[in-house]
Amino acid sequence: MMKHVVIVGGGFAGVYAARGLLKRRDVKVTLISKRNYFLFIPMLHEVATGGLSGYNLAEPYRGILRGKNFSFLQDEVREVDLVKRRVACAHGEVPYDYLVLATGSTTNFFGTKGAEEHCFVLKSLEDAFRLKNQVVRKAEEAFMAKEKDVQEQKLSVVIVGAGPTGVELAIEMQELLEQICKSNASFHGRPSVYLIQRGDRVIPQIPRLQGDAERQLKKHGVHVLTGAGVTEVRKDGVVLQDGRIIAADTVVWSAGVKPSIVKTIPDVAGEKRCLVVDAYLRLLQFPEVFVIGDCATYIPEGEKTPIPMLAQVATEQGKSVGKNLARLLGKRELVPFSFKLKGQFISLGKGYGAGFIGPLKLTGFKAWWLNRTIYLFKILGAGNKLKTAWEWTLNLFTKRDACEH
Ligand SMILES: Cc1cc2nc3c(=O)[nH]c(=O)nc-3n(C[C@H](O)[C@H](O)[C@H](O)COP(=O)(O)OP(=O)(O)OC[C@H]3O[C@@H](n4cnc5c(N)ncnc54)[C@H](O)[C@@H]3O)c2cc1C
Repeated sequence: MMKHVVIVGGGFAGVYAARGLLKRRDVKVTLISKRNYFLFIPMLHEVATGGLSGYNLAEPYRGILRGKNFSFLQDEVREVDLVKRRVACAHGEVPYDYLVLATGSTTNFFGTKGAEEHCFVLKSLEDAFRLKNQVVRKAEEAFMAKEKDVQEQKLSVVIVGAGPTGVELAIEMQELLEQICKSNASFHGRPSVYLIQRGDRVIPQIPRLQGDAERQLKKHGVHVLTGAGVTEVRKDGVVLQDGRIIAADTVVWSAGVKPSIVKTIPDVAGEKRCLVVDAYLRLLQFPEVFVIGDCATYIPEGEKTPIPMLAQVATEQGKSVGKNLARLLGKRELVPFSFKLKGQFISLGKGYGAGFIGPLKLTGFKAWWLNRTIYLFKILGAGNKLKTAWEWTLNLFTKRDACEH
């Protein structure tokens, strides 16, 4: 009988696993995901700052995963019975022979008082639209306000966490707010973007790009506060550990994510709430279950820390599991997962970036252009690639979209 592979979660990891498997005809593949489209998450900060419209970053699964042996269910998985090999969704149960869990990550507020209630996050298209609408609306309110401190609070954005997303967002947010303020000739106030980092430098994940990021943040006038922890988020700002208060109507949380874990019977996530996998990305106690992408905790042999939560990693893990499942079906030996970071890029404002591929380091327009070119290969859907390339080219000569939608 044809084996049934169920994949839960249609992000980078789930989609690339499905793509690999669908090359075979002797397997039935079911993808279950909450939304009906794949989303290219790494570009969300550009949507939130009016650089991209956003719709071109999403592609329906039915457009990219095809085959008579493929089914898609738009549903939320609530529980997995690992013993009975069944996945429980909102609309019913789905049995499996092999299971791939690829449910991504959720924002980690680290229990910070008020953070979940008052912060904007950046995990979905809706999040990005919500953040842009807030910033645009607050700017209009600032223009109508009489008192200077009220104007300043409305035109202040606090970004908690100076990882790559925090840095990219801070610079582009400053550009958007400057543009909005300049478009009002009778207004003489200035916007403020605060980037708050607990550690002593920005982007600790990419030491090679720290200097470039710090220079661009300074050049754009972003207020970078390092060695500063946020102890409380309020409706009207944040409280720092040294007691300082920054008044801001908009606070964005980009200080961390944690694996998004589906409930399992028996509970294999333990107290640490993580799904630890072996060298083949299989659950230790249930080898017919693969866990990949941000929701997996994979510590390579000889290392002390898990592999980072990156789209690159999720994509490679998806490809690896797709191939290994095909090997399993063909009764061939599995190949352990291995990962080598090929390079990393960050955008540092309009037409400017920094990054490296192997030993080659680039900054400025060349880095920005190469980063975009690489992304164009990774955005799914031919139409989306063309439309995004067109938007990026136009953006070099036009203003950011500052409309509330
Ligand atoms: C703003 C931002 C910028 C980033 N920039 C970069 C970057 O520049 N470079 C980089 O390498 N990485 C970047 N990342 C990280 C990267 O996006 C993630 O590592 C990557 O998306 C992980 O892929 P994934 O498939 O594991 O999870 P996701 O892409 O998050 O996909 C998970 C999927 O599972 C679905 N799902 C979750 N729970 C359930 C459930 N119970 N039932 C059904 N479906 C479910 C979700 O709807 C989603 O479709 C960025 C992340 C963010 C938030």
